[in-house]
Amino acid sequence: MFNNLSDKLDKALHVLKGHGSITEVNVAETLKEVRRALLDADVNFKIAKQFTQTVKEKALGQNVLTTLQPGQLMVKIVKDELTQLMGGDAEGINLSGKPSIILMSGLQGSGKTTFSGKLANYLKTKKSKNPLLVACDVYRPAAIDQLHVVGGQIGVEVFSDKGNNDPVAISQAAIAHAKANGHNVVIIDTAGRLAVDEAMMTEISNIHKAIEPQETLFVVDSMTGQDAVNTAKAFNDVLNFDGVILTKLDGDTRGGAAISIKSVVNKPIKFIGTGEKMEAIDVFYPSRMADRILG
Ligand code: GDP
Repeated sequence: MFNNLSDKLDKALHVLKGHGSITEVNVAETLKEVRRALLDADVNFKIAKQFTQTVKEKALGQNVLTTLQPGQLMVKIVKDELTQLMGGDAEGINLSGKPSIILMSGLQGSGKTTFSGKLANYLKTKKSKNPLLVACDVYRPAAIDQLHVVGGQIGVEVFSDKGNNDPVAISQAAIAHAKANGHNVVIIDTAGRLAVDEAMMTEISNIHKAIEPQETLFVVDSMTGQDAVNTAKAFNDVLNFDGVILTKLDGDTRGGAAISIKSVVNKPIKFIGTGEKMEAIDVFYPSRMADRILG
């Protein structure tokens, strides 16, 4: 698949070479293929356009047209640019708090509850932490039950207070509980709505202000493609979050949302979700994602 774009670009450039005049216009033609590949991968249109502009400047600077396999060099430039664009201070979660508080945000169905469990399991098994999961969805009792099921699967305690409809009070009580019981990480799973609305934003903003988390994570379904950008922006405007979690990458999406979100909010993508199981979590590697997006 990765060769496909390379072949296409080679072909485009060779055809143009055959016409003898190799100019900036020819490179622009080739870049149309790059843009198409990005759009196919669900990258936001404006961002794909900006991106190809940058690649164009690099390509002309590196004189791609004089090499034997210009398509391959173009792909390398594109891949390097993509990797750089998605890179940054991705690794790690700030675990300096006592306890360290991690606040999960995102729309309903994005995978927050599942990821909360995965992260708790990861921190427990890979980082020898003793996490506490906190159910703060006061609207959906089923969501609280779901977190208890997840906690049971991974052997992590879940704090909840069914009937209490004040998520700030629940989070504060959970943190006190964590301190009293030797939990050094507190992962707070919040309520989500099907679309961004003011009530949800006010609620999560209130929790955020009250508990001052070390880490606020925005969870987004990679299958939502272009919509992911608007959602990410709305959450970032309110929470100024620290990192992005891209879920459902086991599906057939190429993951263009990763580029779009990174371009718009400029926050690192920290982890990816690759399945429904608790072990289906991976650290985000920009270069692997670039390969995937290029297809
Ligand atoms: P929440 O409403 O944000 O808490 O979302 P959930 O954690 O309940 O996830 C919604 C649905 O997506 C559930 O059916 C999960 O099993 C599923 N899900 C979550 N993460 C992943 C993932 O990485 N891959 C796949 N295939 N499914 C996922």
